[in-house]
Amino acid sequence: YSRNPEQAEFLQAVRGMALSIAPVFEKHPEYLPAFRMLTEPERQVIFRVPWVDDAGVWQMNRGMRVQFSSAIGPYKGGLRFHPSVTLSIIKFLGFEQIFKNALTTLPMGGGKGGADFDPKGRSDSEIMRFCQSFMTELYRHIGSDTDVPAGDIGVGGREIGYMYGQYKRITRDRAGVLTGKGMGWGGSEIRPEATGYGVVFLAEYLLADRGDSLEGKRCLVSGSGNVAQYCVELLLEKGAVVLSMSDSRGMIYAPEGLSREDLAAVMKLKSQHDGKLEDLELEGVEYRGDAAQPWFLDTEVFGAFPCATQNELGEEAAKALVKHGVQIVLEGANMPCTLEAEEVFTAAEGVAFVTGKASNAGGVAVSGLEMAQNRSFVPWSREDVTTKLQGIMKAIYDDITGAAAEYDTDLINGANIASFEKVAKAVLAQGAV
Ligand code: NDP
Repeated sequence: YSRNPEQAEFLQAVRGMALSIAPVFEKHPEYLPAFRMLTEPERQVIFRVPWVDDAGVWQMNRGMRVQFSSAIGPYKGGLRFHPSVTLSIIKFLGFEQIFKNALTTLPMGGGKGGADFDPKGRSDSEIMRFCQSFMTELYRHIGSDTDVPAGDIGVGGREIGYMYGQYKRITRDRAGVLTGKGMGWGGSEIRPEATGYGVVFLAEYLLADRGDSLEGKRCLVSGSGNVAQYCVELLLEKGAVVLSMSDSRGMIYAPEGLSREDLAAVMKLKSQHDGKLEDLELEGVEYRGDAAQPWFLDTEVFGAFPCATQNELGEEAAKALVKHGVQIVLEGANMPCTLEAEEVFTAAEGVAFVTGKASNAGGVAVSGLEMAQNRSFVPWSREDVTTKLQGIMKAIYDDITGAAAEYDTDLINGANIASFEKVAKAVLAQGAV
């Protein structure tokens, strides 16, 4: 705390982890120094990103990359372009990424980066110039064996393309130094779908254990970006009734459930610059503005899938969900539930809560598979990658339920314990480096 007094989100992530894994230290006191070590990034770089807008005006943003831990592999984690980006946000994301990546079973360390750049309302050429300027500094800190960034909020295939092009131009190296590349130039099948699909696969494994399925289940989804879209797509495929999606301005509510056509309309809208849900006109779908959130809908609900952003689901929202009968909560976004909300879910009878470290690890897992394909020079089929993703999500589920059983605790602690033990062992084995 004394080292990072201003970093609320980072401290929240570390505190949540520390509380959750406390029982491990009773059994393995030797892991305590490893945890202390892991709360300080191995390295962080902060840099100026100068660029010129379409009107010829000079602009300047702050870029950063936090290389948190390389204990089990090269730093791996996304880049976020959003005006809310601060060092605290990037550090919380990088810290979480260490443990998420450990759960995927692939050899990936943890890192995260980004800039306080707002891509909304910017032209393609402005975004290209920004990405090129960002990479002109970032390139010296990354590499296919050292640090492999990917996308996150505000960074999709287009931005990855511009950054990858600039990286190659500077270094003459075409190795897979970024993941999330497009099909035909190094990308992997189902990478765009992987995070949202992974959340739904995990939900299926969880329900199968209870002799249940997603068929006919009433689900709330927040967000309407990459994660939310594919979470909804697979939920619909599994026969669930998806009641909502949202964006930073408001939400859509479909009392009878969204259709595939509704989802297609959302996807088309969100592929445009600054598409707003309020502009959609869909039959049987209501729009609610003023940053309305799905969690407060006065309707019976089985599953909640927060897929927008950090701290979007607080204590009151959690209480509303429990009141409406929620049974499963799976985080699609990173840390969308506050610690208070987590406490409400874990205290409620029969509610299964899965932390994003486990439930949204499908995206980075397929990024790892993209790295493997780039290395071997052989792209895998859609079926191959899907089967591997399902296998990884099942391994994650088994790992977190195994740790939960061993420590006689819930799935949040199970995920934190299983991932921490893997990383701590690696840190200790490599000495105080
Ligand atoms: P996108 O940029 O594609 O979508 C983000 C969505 O969240 C948009 O609908 C956006 O609304 C909404 N949103 C952003 N800020 C707020 C806010 N303050 N309040 C309400 N809604 C908001 O991002 P992704 O879908 O890629 O990422 C979503 C979350 O999932 C993030 O937490 C990310 O870190 C996490 N994640 C992403 C992975 C990936 O593979 N993409 C992997 C693992 C985790 P609007 O359209 O109005 O901007």
